[in-house]
Amino acid sequence: MYKCTYFALHELVPEEVYLERGESAWESLDESMLMSLDRLREHYGLMTVNNWYWGGSRQWSGLRIPGSPNYKPYSQHTFGRAADCLFEKYSAEEVRKDILSTPNDSKFELISSIELDVSWLHFDVRNCERIKTYYP
Ligand SMILES: [Zn+2]
Repeated sequence: MYKCTYFALHELVPEEVYLERGESAWESLDESMLMSLDRLREHYGLMTVNNWYWGGSRQWSGLRIPGSPNYKPYSQHTFGRAADCLFEKYSAEEVRKDILSTPNDSKFELISSIELDVSWLHFDVRNCERIKTYYP
């Protein structure tokens, strides 16, 4: 079982899931996604996924469940395989370019898809020919 070094569970799941499932909610998150988050954090520095725990508005940037805003049954977020990330020092576009220029670097090797043209970094670890890119 993998738990993030740099992220608390509440940063990766909505409040409802955190309260209902507690530590078991780690089991709803894909370990390749969790490892990638830690690697991104080590490389790019401070970053935000969810911040509801500290009074922020983001609680849907990791796992999403039925009833979540923007919930879609086949979204990678639904399966715990995706995260939407904001970086303190870099724009999403800078990070995307970096990932796409060296996709086989060990820090990126588990990332299989990223979304283009959005102001956050959406990455996921879906089963596909990598690195798949798509528009919103
Ligand atoms: Zn996303």
